[in-house]
Amino acid sequence: MDYESRLNKTILEVKPSGIRRFFDIVSDMEDVISLSIGEPDFRTPWHVSRAAIESLEKGRTWYTPNRGFEKLRVEIADFVKRKYELNYAPKTEILVTVGGSEALDLAMRCLLNPGDEVLIHQPSFVCYEPLTLMTGAVPKIIDTKKENSFRLTSQELEAAITDKTKLLILSYPNNPTGAVMRKADLEALAEVIIKHDLLVISDEIYSELTYSGKHVSMGAIEGMRERTVVINGFSKAFAMTGWRLGYAMGPATIIEMMTKLHQYGIMSAPTVAQYAAIEALKNGDKDIEKMRGEYEMRRRYVVGEFNAMGLTCFEPFGAFYSFPCIKSTGLTSEEFCTKLLESKRVAIVPGNAFGESGEGFVRVSYSYSLKHLREAISRIREFLQEL
Ligand code: PMP
Repeated sequence: MDYESRLNKTILEVKPSGIRRFFDIVSDMEDVISLSIGEPDFRTPWHVSRAAIESLEKGRTWYTPNRGFEKLRVEIADFVKRKYELNYAPKTEILVTVGGSEALDLAMRCLLNPGDEVLIHQPSFVCYEPLTLMTGAVPKIIDTKKENSFRLTSQELEAAITDKTKLLILSYPNNPTGAVMRKADLEALAEVIIKHDLLVISDEIYSELTYSGKHVSMGAIEGMRERTVVINGFSKAFAMTGWRLGYAMGPATIIEMMTKLHQYGIMSAPTVAQYAAIEALKNGDKDIEKMRGEYEMRRRYVVGEFNAMGLTCFEPFGAFYSFPCIKSTGLTSEEFCTKLLESKRVAIVPGNAFGESGEGFVRVSYSYSLKHLREAISRIREFLQEL
């Protein structure tokens, strides 16, 4: 059958994720040491899993309200208030979703019409551009620069705005660069955003993984609450990627629209995961601290090693990625990663998987044990010596 002519044209044209492509090659090879995946290597804290098991033992296996358990939304509201000074009403301004991923998809589909322009800074996470295209809106890429520590500047933002611009996707702490935005950086952006009356989706999934001061949320910047949807979740902070739970917070009207879509497409996020999440938010602060401490140690080690090898590495203050520059080797990002994989069996991700401005860099995840990292680093060092 001729499927192509029958399939959705937009989806046909969307390229598969560059991270996945590399990951698929790796999964077919033996003896590969991978630093390619953005996933905590920790297990979900046991008390969190236990709360989920108890909910199953008690037979709590039904749908929850579309927006998620109210008890969970109350815990989310308390958590983001005490951590980031955000104020959201559990009943109307918070929606529990299937990972931050679903929240991003819903927010874009609710905010965008065909022809709207969406500003996406790159290098950044791989889903923003395809999700924009799926709505018929038009992605406009802003390349952030290493000289600015991969922060989006207000000048770069202003220069990209046209009369069709509707939305900015902001993604800090950043995957893949590890860049973070300080309060002053966000305030400078806010001035431009308000002047041009834009909306913002702020993906803050790595908010608990910052290594220099506290995370500042775009939703807490003066004048931004009414025009921002903040996305967050449990995957990274609590090592809960497989539970598939996230949330969106924003103005009641937008959250209501998103709930409508969620109601038809998803019904409600997994019940067992919601019980786990309540426990995580209530009693998980120590777990976050412990994991962050461990990541911090690995971060220092990895960044130090790259700089010592001559692969200059900008200091990443958030998430769990380093983004060393490989331009000095004369190889492209793809060549570097492919040769490294073939000759030393180390898998890392080419920077251009996160946008053209990632060319000349590679993403190295340090969400792996120190033992694993040491082995990988020593193979990368050998690789450079043999080049
Ligand atoms: N945003 C960013 C920046 C990410 O890196 C990820 C996962 N890698 C997500 C969102 C999605 O996370 P999840 O759906 O597991 O909450």
